[in-house]
Amino acid sequence: MRTGILLTATGLLLAACALMAMARNEAAYRPRGRVEDDPPAFYSADLFKRMPPPKPGDWRAAHPEQEQSFAAYTRATAVRPTEDRHMLVVAQVGPMNEAQGKQLAVLAEFLGLFYVLPGRQGPPLGLEGVTGRDRTILGREMRQYHTGDILRKVLAPALPGNAVCLQGVTMEDLYPDPSWNYVFGEASLAGRVGIYSLVRFQPAFWGEADAEAGRRLAFLRSLKTLVHETGHMFGLHHCQTYECVINGSNSLTESDARPIHLCPVCLKKLRWNLGFDVVERYEALRAFYTKHGMTDQAAWVAKRLAQCREGKAK
Ligand SMILES: [Zn+2]
Ligand SMILES: [Zn+2]
Repeated sequence: MRTGILLTATGLLLAACALMAMARNEAAYRPRGRVEDDPPAFYSADLFKRMPPPKPGDWRAAHPEQEQSFAAYTRATAVRPTEDRHMLVVAQVGPMNEAQGKQLAVLAEFLGLFYVLPGRQGPPLGLEGVTGRDRTILGREMRQYHTGDILRKVLAPALPGNAVCLQGVTMEDLYPDPSWNYVFGEASLAGRVGIYSLVRFQPAFWGEADAEAGRRLAFLRSLKTLVHETGHMFGLHHCQTYECVINGSNSLTESDARPIHLCPVCLKKLRWNLGFDVVERYEALRAFYTKHGMTDQAAWVAKRLAQCREGKAK
């Protein structure tokens, strides 16, 4: 019989290896230099498209918001990583199949590379005791779970002491309030926890064949969602000036149109907050995009890298 506290010699060895891996992963947080000393090329807008005027139904038409300047961002009390609290933790909430579980590890890795903080997958969390309701969606009986209840009962108590935020990811459908049909997710910025459903990104949800193109689109949507929502955790308001992953969106069509990249304004805000090296960050992202066959994204980052390196050499 095996129990959680029984540790054989092999178990101890495995535990020691896990601790060593964790020690490497949780290396001390050291901000690199100052944003003021970066070459202007790092924040050049040459490779970015300005946002066109909003069309009816777009996020900016439905929710007019004020532009958040770099100065306003640095004045605001944004969530900032510290030596003791800088892990970005992603956790599975509710059941997932093997492929979805594996993809979650990739999402955690990407989030870490994007924000240049250690991205880690936390222990899976259950939905026991969470308020839910049964709905008929697309002719199928489906259980939906209440986002606020997940934030309070599941995620808040699971936020690790060393985590700057805990992002819960689920394949269950969600709702924030009985008057809503569904929601993609909800976050508590003050509580530094969020819950996001990826189920509606999957072709199978819509009764479509499980084809490669659909899977790739679901993966890209999942990456963009986690990056966008984590940007809010770090105090970013919706980006208004350039096409950027932090643009607000009112529909899947609108969010599919936004890029996965940070515009120069959002990049500078995060560079100030998180203290990363801009070139090293782009190098890591290019390697990730290349590894995952995201050729358009890899090619764009390569152009940005050339621009930044040229600026650095001046
Ligand atoms: Zn948003
Ligand atoms: Zn932006």
